[in-house]
Amino acid sequence: MTHAVGLNFHGIGEPRRTLETDEAPYWVSPHQFEQVLAQVAKAPEGFQITFDDGNLSDHDIALPALVDHGLQARFFVLTGRIGQSGSLDKAHLRALSEAGMTIGSHGIDHTAWPTLSDADLRQELQTSRARLEDICGHAVTEAGIPFGRYDARVLRALQAAGYTTAWSSDGGSFRHQSFLRPRASLRGDMSDDETHAILSNRMPPLRRLRRAVRMVQKRWTITG
Ligand SMILES: [Zn+2]
Repeated sequence: MTHAVGLNFHGIGEPRRTLETDEAPYWVSPHQFEQVLAQVAKAPEGFQITFDDGNLSDHDIALPALVDHGLQARFFVLTGRIGQSGSLDKAHLRALSEAGMTIGSHGIDHTAWPTLSDADLRQELQTSRARLEDICGHAVTEAGIPFGRYDARVLRALQAAGYTTAWSSDGGSFRHQSFLRPRASLRGDMSDDETHAILSNRMPPLRRLRRAVRMVQKRWTITG
């Protein structure tokens, strides 16, 4: 299979920390999560599962469920939250890594990368990566882009900081091995039909066209 659908989760179950504004809809129930995993497990090569923000549920709920289904996933962690209540700590990160999961960076403080100065962006990308490499004991080469916000400068900075893969939130499928990989975010308020449309990569033609235009714009412009 040359294409895969990227599925992105944030938190599962009851949050154990104070949520950010507009974050709540991105938390799904354990039941919803289990339903998606059961579908993915039927054709695992057609999907890539990722998690943003480094919530405690990555370890407590997602990890055992993934292992049960024989699935692997990527976890993009905010290094500024490591060890805080409701977020992953160092031992959780090592447990995920030792179970064969990929650990990547989501930056330090959950900032929109296009808004940072060149120096701050470099710091955000390099420092978070170094911290995760120090904890996990191996190279970290993937990043999950916060809020799906990127532009040409962000993509260049990611490559300059040594990242080989960057995950956005543009939805739809992507070609294996591409540097920029779109994902669809699963939300708690999605109907079964909406979830099914994502899993079967069904996008209405007009939306598919708009997505393609938006991705080209973001890749080639600097929004600053
Ligand atoms: Zn995030």
